[in-house]
Amino acid sequence: MPGRMCRFYQNGRCLYEEMLNPGYNRDWRCPVLKEQEGEYDKLLVQADNFQLDAQAFRDLWEQRIEEYLKSNVVCRKMVAGVEEGEAFCTALYKEVCLFEQPECEGVCNLFKPRKE
Ligand code: SF4
Ligand code: SF4
Repeated sequence: MPGRMCRFYQNGRCLYEEMLNPGYNRDWRCPVLKEQEGEYDKLLVQADNFQLDAQAFRDLWEQRIEEYLKSNVVCRKMVAGVEEGEAFCTALYKEVCLFEQPECEGVCNLFKPRKE
């Protein structure tokens, strides 16, 4: 039976280990996201130097991200999010790459129902 109703289930993957210790295994973090965080910090410093307001900063950041994602083969496994408000990759769950998580083979003895 598929494990879709399990609270550890996400897009066919099992997040049991990650949810036990969120963020503990750094190897599971999306490297693209890590790189973006570095770019974000750099832009913060520049914005401070040029005294940009919040809106100008947001516009510049969106533009930077768009250019970055277009100009690099950032990740060969990336499945770009297309919906408004979606993450840049649909395999991203919080900060974790779902491809680093095992597949859910169906309801198992660790199954926990989703919270309402
Ligand atoms: S597939 Fe997506 S979430 Fe996974 S590493 Fe690549 S960009 Fe990050
Ligand atoms: S049913 Fe088992 S394998 Fe599937 S997501 Fe839940 S805990 Fe993981």
